Amino acid sequence: DFVAIKKQFVIIGLGRFGGSVCKELIKQGHEVLAVDTDEHKVNDFAKFATHAVVANSTDEETLRSLGVRNFENVVVAIGDNIQASILTTLLLKELGVKNVLVKAKNDYHHKVLEKIGADHIVHPEKDMGRRVAQHLSDDKIIDF
Ligand code: ATP
Repeated sequence: DFVAIKKQFVIIGLGRFGGSVCKELIKQGHEVLAVDTDEHKVNDFAKFATHAVVANSTDEETLRSLGVRNFENVVVAIGDNIQASILTTLLLKELGVKNVLVKAKNDYHHKVLEKIGADHIVHPEKDMGRRVAQHLSDDKIIDF
C-alpha cells in the first residue's frame, strides 16, 4: 500500500478549485490551513480543513501573523482577482515559501506569475481538457 508522507499546506481561496484541492489533501491525510476573505466559505470549510480562517492574503502582516512562512507548500487559488493573485504570490515568495502553486486565469497572468517566481502554475480548465482528450483518444476506451 502507498502511504503519503504527511505534509502541511496553506490553501488561499476556497472556490471550486481551491476547495477541491483542500478536500482532497485532507482526504489524503495532510494538514491544511484554509484561507479566504469570505466568511461563509471559511465556515463551510471548517469541517474540511485542519484550520480555516478569514483573512486577506494581499496583506503582508496578515500572512506573517498566520505563520505562512513556516509552510513549504502554498496554493494560491484566487480566481477572478488577478491583481490579488499576483500580489499574494509575490508576498509568499518574499516571505520565503518554497513551493507556491498558483491557478492562472490567462496567458498574461501566467507570464507575470512566472516572472515573480511562482513555482508551479496551473490552468485547471485547459489542463483538464487536455487530460480528458488523452483519455478519450486512449484505445482502451471504447465507450464512455
Ligand atoms: P473557481 O473557478 O475555482 O471557483 P473562481 O475563479 O470563481 O474560482 P474566485 O471565486 O474569484 O475564483 O476566487 C476564489 C476564492 O478566493 C473566493 O472564495 C474568494 O473569496 C477568495 N479570495 C479572493 N481574493 C482573496 C484574498 N485576497 N485573500 C483570500 N481569499 C481571497
